[in-house]
Amino acid sequence: MSKGHAKHHERHHGLSLFGKDLVRRCSSKCELCEAHGVKLKVFEVPPIEAEPNFDHCIMICEACQGQIDKPRTIDPNYWRFLDNAMWSSVPPVKIMSVTMLRHLADKNDWASELLEQVYLEPDEDAWLVKVPPLD
Ligand SMILES: [Zn+2]
Repeated sequence: MSKGHAKHHERHHGLSLFGKDLVRRCSSKCELCEAHGVKLKVFEVPPIEAEPNFDHCIMICEACQGQIDKPRTIDPNYWRFLDNAMWSSVPPVKIMSVTMLRHLADKNDWASELLEQVYLEPDEDAWLVKVPPLD
């Protein structure tokens, strides 16, 4: 087994330890779009730290994750649910929602209007500064 592979495996294992708590928190719904009855995966909100960090993890569906991974496939209208997700009491959900809104705000007035309403705690603000823009 290569070193890189072992590392990936360890990380995956670390994340799967969070799975149970995350499933409880999200009540089996995508924490962004609230789809249920779909497959959910652990997603780490950037910046990715050396050790998997539970407080950076969210459970999201493949439809959300697919578009985050390939921003060129983003369908702005799909993300209208962000008007709800951005008020989440779960910080990584809020951070990911605002990151998406910032990406969408360039071309979508509804997204920039939502960004004007969002309220961020100082530590959330400090986190957002470290999140690279999607591209
Ligand atoms: Zn989703």
